[in-house]
Amino acid sequence: MYKIMTPGPTQVRENVRMARSLACTNPDLDPAFYDYYKETCELISELLETKNTAYILDGEGILGLEAACASLTEPGDKVLVVDNGIYGKGFADFVTMYGGQVTFYESTYTQAVDVKEFRAFLEEHHDFKYATLVHCDTPSGVLNPVEELSRALHEYGIMTIVDSVSAMMGEPLRVDEGQIDIVCGGSQKAVSAPPGLTFVTVSDAAMKAMEERKTPIASFYANILVFKDYYKNLWFPYTMPISDIYGLRTALENVKADPDRYERHKQMGELTRRTVKEMGLSLYLENGYSNTVTVIRVPDGIKADDILELMKKDHNIMIAGSFDVLTGQVIRIGHMGENANEADVVETLEALKSVLNKLSA
Ligand SMILES: *Cc1c(COP(=O)(O)O)cnc(C)c1O
Repeated sequence: MYKIMTPGPTQVRENVRMARSLACTNPDLDPAFYDYYKETCELISELLETKNTAYILDGEGILGLEAACASLTEPGDKVLVVDNGIYGKGFADFVTMYGGQVTFYESTYTQAVDVKEFRAFLEEHHDFKYATLVHCDTPSGVLNPVEELSRALHEYGIMTIVDSVSAMMGEPLRVDEGQIDIVCGGSQKAVSAPPGLTFVTVSDAAMKAMEERKTPIASFYANILVFKDYYKNLWFPYTMPISDIYGLRTALENVKADPDRYERHKQMGELTRRTVKEMGLSLYLENGYSNTVTVIRVPDGIKADDILELMKKDHNIMIAGSFDVLTGQVIRIGHMGENANEADVVETLEALKSVLNKLSA
């Protein structure tokens, strides 16, 4: 077993693994499970500082993104896709798939979106039903000021979808203050449960937009509206993965029991960036560092895959490369959730140092 120091999936605490092995009821028929599900959703809303209702869907983080787009998009709808990273740009695929018309707001991948420039763009272009934003764009590690961006969009009546899968619980996210209509999260990043679940928080305005559609939502599995009355009707659209939800609940309770989590992530982020620079390496980003992941340029003359292989072989530690336009160019250390502890971060950085010495010898 490797020590997992990737930007998701992350390490899973023993109490989460134990919770997943508890005896199961029939989650479709047992009213007690509807209460358990609802209380788990309420805990998500509490941790994200929102009055909006949360829903847990049975699928990985990607399902949350697709469900948000599927549920809001009607054919011909104009959608603004904020592209300063690979996930940012990727939202366009879901919007297009459900018939939306994409306009990109493009900005450099090495910096956070600049709020002033974004506002200037909106002054000229604001005929959009909704916009998609990414909180931490994990392949590059850039952290966007999604609360400010979302508030700016709201001034023009534009709804917002925010992918915070790899930021939430490691970076503060105040959903109501940011007026964010739909937030997407996942189980396997800073929440530190195994992969398998996604969850969304949905504003009244977003739910109303779904109810008032002229065309039906073109999906069942990626349909958020079908969840709306689950508690009143004691009916889920499909059988809920009860063991996954037991694990998620325990992981969320671990998060809640750790009020210093943002400070801990900040310290681990700063420690990693400082040490990496002291080692003579360069960070991929110029600003907007997420405290959940550090993205490091691969030094000239060394191959990313060789670093990753030696980290595993010599040190039993798994870190990550990246993908799409960043393939081979960077390596990534995930210091989020259970990974964000000093012992593991220091061990990883020391291992990286010795691997790089070996490879450049
Ligand atoms: C991990 C992640 C997701 C979910 O992707 P999966 O392939 O389902 O794990 C979505 N958005 C971001 C920014 C992520 O980091």
